[in-house]
Amino acid sequence: MSAVDTAATKRSRESRTSEHVRIPVTGMTCAACQSRVQRALQREPGVVDASVNLMMHSAAVTFDATVSSPTRLVEVIRNTGYGAALAPTDETVLDEQRSREKSDADSYAVLKRKAVVSGVVGAVAMLISMSPLASASMSLGVTLPTPSATIVRFALLALSLFIMTWAGRSFYTHAWTAFRHHSADMNTLVAVGTGAAFVYSLVATLAPNVFVSQSVPADVYYEAVIVILAFVLTGQLFEARAKTRTTKALQSLVQLQPKTARVVRNDIEVDIAIDDVQAGDIIVVRPGERIAVDGEVVWGSSAVDEAMLTGEAMPVTKTIGNRVIGGTVNTTGSIRLRATTLGAHSVLSQIVELMRDAQSSRAPIQALADKVSGIFVPVILSLAVATFVVWFIAADHAPLVRAFSTAVAVLIIACPCAMGLAVPTAVMVATGRGAELGILIKGGEALQRAGDVTTIVLDKTGTITAGTPRVTDLVLASDVEGTAQNGDSKTQLSAIELLSLVASLESVSEHPLADAVVRHAKAQGATVATPEAFQSLTGRGAHGVVNGRAVTVGNAFMLADFSVRVDSLQELADQFSADGKTPLFVAVDGELAGVVAVADTIRPTSAAAIANFRKLGLDVMMLTGDTERTANVIARAAGIDQVRASLLPDGKVATIKALQAQGKVVAMIGDGINDSPALAQANVGMAIGTGADIAVEAADVVLMRGDLESAVQAIRLSRRTMRTMHQNLFWAFIYNVVGIPIAAGVLYPAFGLLLSPMLASAAMAFSSVSVVTNSLRLRKVAL
Ligand code: ADP
Ligand code: MG
Repeated sequence: MSAVDTAATKRSRESRTSEHVRIPVTGMTCAACQSRVQRALQREPGVVDASVNLMMHSAAVTFDATVSSPTRLVEVIRNTGYGAALAPTDETVLDEQRSREKSDADSYAVLKRKAVVSGVVGAVAMLISMSPLASASMSLGVTLPTPSATIVRFALLALSLFIMTWAGRSFYTHAWTAFRHHSADMNTLVAVGTGAAFVYSLVATLAPNVFVSQSVPADVYYEAVIVILAFVLTGQLFEARAKTRTTKALQSLVQLQPKTARVVRNDIEVDIAIDDVQAGDIIVVRPGERIAVDGEVVWGSSAVDEAMLTGEAMPVTKTIGNRVIGGTVNTTGSIRLRATTLGAHSVLSQIVELMRDAQSSRAPIQALADKVSGIFVPVILSLAVATFVVWFIAADHAPLVRAFSTAVAVLIIACPCAMGLAVPTAVMVATGRGAELGILIKGGEALQRAGDVTTIVLDKTGTITAGTPRVTDLVLASDVEGTAQNGDSKTQLSAIELLSLVASLESVSEHPLADAVVRHAKAQGATVATPEAFQSLTGRGAHGVVNGRAVTVGNAFMLADFSVRVDSLQELADQFSADGKTPLFVAVDGELAGVVAVADTIRPTSAAAIANFRKLGLDVMMLTGDTERTANVIARAAGIDQVRASLLPDGKVATIKALQAQGKVVAMIGDGINDSPALAQANVGMAIGTGADIAVEAADVVLMRGDLESAVQAIRLSRRTMRTMHQNLFWAFIYNVVGIPIAAGVLYPAFGLLLSPMLASAAMAFSSVSVVTNSLRLRKVAL
């Protein structure tokens, strides 16, 4: 998918009639089930996009509300034979996640009991069937079973009936439902395989004559039926356990949410349930306590450990006026805060929601696996029949027995599970690992594209630099030679008056430079008023009216827009630029009034991170709206040799487009505020988050820690994840490509090698467990 398409999808998702719904789906046990539901939804008129996730037990559907509806979609899912119901609307993401964990834990406990009991019963059955009592045909000829063997057979029959109807019940019921809907899934394979073995044994038990009269030994395979079910259940058990570990990161995020908060009401501190906290409530947080809700500090100061949300190891100092995030830990001091955002709007809720959506999203690389699992089961059923026929015709001895056991082995060893798990488990583990490091990756697609990136494009202000610039100089036009003719003008302003005008205008701008001017003015004791009019031109500056005077501030383009010549201060401005400072021209009432120089420091981690990008083989380029000179100074200090300066926001977009036209896969790293168009245009947009801003729409990745090293980690993580996915897919495919022919007996003519159905079931269990385990390694890789 090209970057242009991505931008278009981002937009189309927001289009008016298009709605989004998540529907919990029950009964899906394997990749084939998942792809069945997925295809049914995609075929449904009005569905724009559907993503069914086996592990989240959910379907995320974007649909055209004028054509379809959530209830209609629920019906579509039910028609495929699986369960679906709309989630209660008042449920928050945190509640939803908790109830999913609860139901996962319950089904795990049930599965465990079934696996253990059938394992024990299987072992007993094998012992019984190997005992001399049981042997039907110890002599060379084919004879009827002895009376004692017949008793043993009925005992085994009872045991296998018990295991099939209790522990293995869901295989048969699901297979039956699938059959009624004219489809087949992994349950079909297990059900047909074990069912056939059971029926064969049943005939051999009840009417051994049928076999003996044909000179076929009337053997029974009850123990195989039980052991196969035990292995498949054990495989599912391991798989379930490994799968819960893939969602650990999400679980630990949910656990960050405290249950109560200490609120000051009528001057008394009371503990109340978190759901009862209202915006504006004053919350007391003592040292060592977890901060209950998002808020603003109104009293006290403290160091707050935000590592669990931002990945930032060092505690952050918070004083009056600073924002704190619910779920983080207050370390040293006591603080009081005013609750701001609550419930579904809280930062924690938003992160959990983002993570959940990311984890249930699909990576494009999965398409192949999906295609294969879609046709896998019918293909295997046909192969099993073919195996049976070939053996029955060609076997030199006991053709029915051979035909039978090879066909059952083919059914049992073939498993679409590993294929279905290969990509989603890697996506889940990687997004979870990312979140632990303060890197929020918005989904499988972003993860995959980040792994393919060839070129890193960086914004300067707030990305390479800390984004907390300081005002270093303020020079009045009247003080500079060549402008002295204005000296007697009645518009003559003092430095503090000029600062006051500029700061008042900038007080409504969100730009980091504006912030610097305001802070400086306040520190100098200049009055900061509210402008009567304000207009901001992204990448240029701001214009407005303060105390009846027209004020313009920004770069040379900005002043040119307002027909103000900056010649007299240009030389001075160039000097500032040469020192790496950003010059801001100021005009009052249409006349050049002065220049303010602002210096931003390079983040201490930037140069090292840029060197690391290079080590990863990536091209690095800096894009900025600042002047060429300033840009070059910063670039040199950061170790970047490709610089594009004096760019307007659309110039950044055009530069990225040009790189993409050369076949480059571009990651843009910038702040979410004024770089949104460029973030959206890039193949991967990485937004430097500032703690609380995680809802950066245009970004595919949010870097909560706010330094470039985390972008390096994001690229490394993506590359590792892609490698893991490739390994997983390779093993899942090769397992079937090699396993199925061996089970069918292709090695028999040359090596006399056949695979017993029991070994086949062990191999099947092993395959999916190994794929999940391989994905789990992503939790530990060095980044
Ligand atoms: P960057 O690409 O470095 O992040 P921007 O594109 O945000 O920079 O801004 C480019 C230039 O526009 C700044 O260097 C500054 O000269 C000017 N500018 C933008 N916004 C403002 C503002 N609010 N006040 C003054 N100057 C501004
Ligand atoms: Mg910027």
